[in-house]
Amino acid sequence: MIEDINSDVFVRIQTDLLVVGDSIMTDRHHASNGNYEDDDPQNQIGGIIPAFPLSGWLRHGMEETVQEYGGTACHPGEANANFMKDGVYDRDLDAGYHEKGACTDDPKEDDGCVVFDLFGGFGGVPGKVMRRPIKFNPVRSSVDYTRGQAEGHYRRLNRNIVSRNQEDSREPLRNAEIDAVANLDGCWHLSFREMKPEFIGLLVESIDFLDAHKTDFMHQLGGARNFGAGIVDCHLINPLYEERELKRVFDRGKGNTNKMDEKDDRWKEEYRPAFVDALEERVEGGP
Ligand SMILES: [Zn+2]
Repeated sequence: MIEDINSDVFVRIQTDLLVVGDSIMTDRHHASNGNYEDDDPQNQIGGIIPAFPLSGWLRHGMEETVQEYGGTACHPGEANANFMKDGVYDRDLDAGYHEKGACTDDPKEDDGCVVFDLFGGFGGVPGKVMRRPIKFNPVRSSVDYTRGQAEGHYRRLNRNIVSRNQEDSREPLRNAEIDAVANLDGCWHLSFREMKPEFIGLLVESIDFLDAHKTDFMHQLGGARNFGAGIVDCHLINPLYEERELKRVFDRGKGNTNKMDEKDDRWKEEYRPAFVDALEERVEGGP
């Protein structure tokens, strides 16, 4: 069954506003030929959302899913790291985590827990899922969804921190510029270096978890969460789809073909339950 799943899978990500601090990389230098104005609505610039915030968001969803299945998850930080808050690591260990890498004696030989198996990052082990950045472009026709791209509109937002003193009449004290992407809709491309049924089981369960908890502060994506940024609608695009079917998902003029509907039924009734069973087994088997 798992042989039917391609090692490249795609998650649909839609959000009205995403703020990734100063880490959105834009191609405005090429697009503007030196005449770029931040506030010009005609700016047709695209850019890249790095994988770091996406990866952290997904990983947190996966950790919670493993915990819901009765397991503990690998902590993302080394036990001996210099955390900014005292006792934070021990507190996390009490709340459903085990020490990073404690699930494996020899990371090169055995795979550890399912989270470690996927994310690695300890003892020189890379992890089995590669999380790619998302390239976005404001021009829909230039977006290649089969390469994990998205439609998105880059804006630089300005925030003024103003004086609270009546006689200053809201005079700005400080100005902060924030990079944001609006109306993001596209694919996040994940590649598995090695495929296991429980990987897909965990992915689909955690993406559904994240979708159901999209307005939880803890499970929004990126920054400016108090201001409604990073509320993400997400679902796993049926991994049984072929490339042209994936493209069709994003074609507003076309609906599902009969074949796609059949694949959706097969996914729901056969594949997904089998992969979720595999996840259950793996989590039950410890650690
Ligand atoms: Zn672990």
